[in-house]
Amino acid sequence: MSFRIPFQDLRDTDTDIRPEIEAAVVDVIRSGRYLNGPQTEALEQEIARCCGTSLCVAVSTGLDALRLIFRAYIENGILRPGDEVIVPDNTFIATFLAVSDAGLRPVAAEPSPLTRNLDLDHLPLSPATRAIVPVHLYGTPCWNPEIMHQLRQRGIIVVEDNAQAIGARAADPGFSGSCSTGSLGDAAAISFYPAKNIGAMGDAGAVTTSDQQLATTIRELANYGSLKKYNHRLRGFNCRMDEMQAAILRIRLRRLEEVIRHRAEIAAIYDSAITNPEITRPVVDPALRQVWHQYVILSTRRDELRDYLDARGIGTEIHYPVPAHLQPCYADTPLGGPFPVAERLAAESLSLPIANISKEEALIVADAINSF
Ligand SMILES: *Cc1c(COP(=O)(O)O)cnc(C)c1O
Repeated sequence: MSFRIPFQDLRDTDTDIRPEIEAAVVDVIRSGRYLNGPQTEALEQEIARCCGTSLCVAVSTGLDALRLIFRAYIENGILRPGDEVIVPDNTFIATFLAVSDAGLRPVAAEPSPLTRNLDLDHLPLSPATRAIVPVHLYGTPCWNPEIMHQLRQRGIIVVEDNAQAIGARAADPGFSGSCSTGSLGDAAAISFYPAKNIGAMGDAGAVTTSDQQLATTIRELANYGSLKKYNHRLRGFNCRMDEMQAAILRIRLRRLEEVIRHRAEIAAIYDSAITNPEITRPVVDPALRQVWHQYVILSTRRDELRDYLDARGIGTEIHYPVPAHLQPCYADTPLGGPFPVAERLAAESLSLPIANISKEEALIVADAINSF
């Protein structure tokens, strides 16, 4: 084998600006300021600007960003334990964990087989539904302004899981008047897990919102339930982002447009070069700005195809092989159902390499798929 195309080699991320990143880390080391410092504060403003919200709270992880949003809604009396929250069945498990951690009841929902996002026309609404979590899966915005407006009129809170879609834009504005994911609903969570489009060198996440009261409660909860030193109004957590991650993320965030452009170029190559009739390519609404966190094809012989590519030195992943309703951790908590679409997507989805690969490598991947 003369080449090997890994699914994603994080060592290849922005190698051209590595000296700048290393210098920023050294600056933090020398500053002696490792938490609650100027890097985190500046990053919060930069993320809010990027997402079109007035506020951002930098936190430890994407899961914590989601957890803090739900906990804060409970502390503020907007949600109550036992309230139902609609979550797409085909998301990363963290979306569900955040809901159940807050004492809320996750209700799984089917995705649309076309967009792979929540099927907003067929939501499992009940009189107990009090929130919904559109996940912008694979970087595709999940938004329908009319439906979301109707939900809001019923008092339903909209929490975006924007872990995979920073920089994406919906075709129509959300509640804040902005089209950017992260500002469409009432509050949103971003993940800076290293493999995300903008990744830290460790864990990091953020909440974006324009709700001042919510942001203040989140900041309080994330800091041991305290806004004033040694005065603990709430039973909180320690969910802070550290200054080194903030410094790294500030540099990487400046390159967001470049990252999105590169991913779109690779996706366009896959779109035109993958011609195998057994393969279903992703369908994207051209009115959306999708940021291609993943390029996910469908094949009824997915596992065979994956082995075939593997034997040719091409790495792939499955996002996600087991839908939430089949996870052991929810075996005692019925999430609803049946979920034939989510189960089919779990069986047929295959994510192709898209991060840090060249156009030539994308053509090699497409050729290998066509020869399958
Ligand atoms: C990555 C991810 C999360 C969790 O983020 P972490 O930073 O890994 O905790 C949540 N939801 C989705 C959809 C994700 O992809």
